[in-house]
Amino acid sequence: MSREQQAVARARKAFETGRSKCVEYRIYQLKNLQQLFTEKQKQIAEAVKKDLNKSEVGTLLYETLGLEGEIDLAIRKLKEWAAPRPVEKNLLTLSDTVYIQPEPLGVVLIIGAWNYPWAVTIQPLIGAIAAGNAAVVKPSEVCVHTAKLMEEVLPLYIDKELYPVVTGGVPETQELLRQRFDHIFYTGNSMVGKLIMAAAAKHLTPVTLELGGKSPCYIDKNCDISIACRRVAWGKYTNCGQTCIAPDYILCEPGLQDRVINEVKKSIQEFYTDNPKTCPDYGRIINQRHFKRIMTMLEDSHIAVGGDNDESDCYIAPTVLRDVKPEAKVMQEEIFGPLLPILPVSGLDEAIKFINKGEKPLALYVFTADDKVIKRIRDETSSGGLLANDCLVHYSVSALPFGGVGNSGMGCYHGKFTFDQLSHKRGCLIKKLNMEGVNSMRYPPHTPKKLGWARFFILNTVDLGWMGRMALLALLAVVTAVVLQNYLF
Ligand code: NAD
Repeated sequence: MSREQQAVARARKAFETGRSKCVEYRIYQLKNLQQLFTEKQKQIAEAVKKDLNKSEVGTLLYETLGLEGEIDLAIRKLKEWAAPRPVEKNLLTLSDTVYIQPEPLGVVLIIGAWNYPWAVTIQPLIGAIAAGNAAVVKPSEVCVHTAKLMEEVLPLYIDKELYPVVTGGVPETQELLRQRFDHIFYTGNSMVGKLIMAAAAKHLTPVTLELGGKSPCYIDKNCDISIACRRVAWGKYTNCGQTCIAPDYILCEPGLQDRVINEVKKSIQEFYTDNPKTCPDYGRIINQRHFKRIMTMLEDSHIAVGGDNDESDCYIAPTVLRDVKPEAKVMQEEIFGPLLPILPVSGLDEAIKFINKGEKPLALYVFTADDKVIKRIRDETSSGGLLANDCLVHYSVSALPFGGVGNSGMGCYHGKFTFDQLSHKRGCLIKKLNMEGVNSMRYPPHTPKKLGWARFFILNTVDLGWMGRMALLALLAVVTAVVLQNYLF
């Protein structure tokens, strides 16, 4: 048995003991996870610093703060989320108990990416634990130090049989994918997303795919360009552009381009000084492979700001590209680096057309003081999420579903959405063995009269609250008695 097979078999066996289903046990595990983030902050920040050159405060702000919030929310809300959810009934089922019972799916495989290695790996785990599943956690091998630390510390805090960590690269992940899971939660690029889905299909395993793509950003002439550019520069250059929802490129009218360039440049200096290379808040490209990939994208575009780089240090300065053509290399795939192309368009109509020609993005940004522009963008395009007059912050709202559509992914998470994503919503109808007379309308011999009554009882829904239900039930009993006596027999 391979290491991967053993981990899955152990998780399955642990799930079968039933302990992960107990709500108190789930809360206990979540509290332990909470403790990990209190006690291991230093080590987490050190590992992320080695992997991505993020500052300690940067790691706490962009990675662990959100996780702490999600764990806290799950602990506070879990009993409510896991409780039966009563539903609207029809007249026929009025006296029955009808509800949705969320139940665990089983063993979930979580495959993380490297760009926010804790956030994208642990956030699905929070939902998997909350929903009562076992979970095999596979952090990205690209983040060498973080993956090692995760493998070391998770078993110290949470049930290591139920939630094992498996480290490794492509062969190990493929070996995992040959095993049978009850759900696969993958974060990463769309190409590998297709491989994941193909592997899952062999076992009919459902998948959540948190992918990426080119997230457009339209800057309208009717807006405070200085504020817009500061927010865009923050969204773009945070984590050196290696953010799944970073604004990938800017669309604006040609007359705005120079102002946009100047304002983005000002913000770069404001955030990262005149020499971002020595600024503790400016990160690095994850590795040389990605460095080379990003540098190739620069080849056929004009650099307006930045462009400095150092391969030995995986450093690429915050860069702005001007007059970029749709055919340029930088426009052919998600940039995932600190390059910000500007594509001049004649106005909103052309911007919408351009956005709709591409794959559906993970995020779509619009900057404008005009509500009609926001409404048109919302109504005439599609994307995982839509944000007006800011970047990235929709990620921090647990009450919003986070996820892609089309090529940017399927399924969603954050807050209760993660719980629901990793639960089976079981429809339950609990009937008593009395009131058999009402059922005669569905038993043969079928007659038009019985059909008429079936139509009345099934097509009328009821949502009256407790008092109303009791009153209606009494009335229904009378009507049924009359019907049975006078019409059906
Ligand atoms: P990556 O290289 O770390 O790969 C992601 C995971 O897939 C890793 O765990 C890796 O081991 C595994 N993997 C890679 N190749 C594989 C293969 N051939 N077979 C099986 N498993 C394989 O990360 P990445 O793909 O470079 O991540 C960046 C992408 O992720 C970007 O497109 C970004 O937009 C997207 N992303 C999306 C979100 C989101 O929430 N939607 C978050 C972060 C990143």
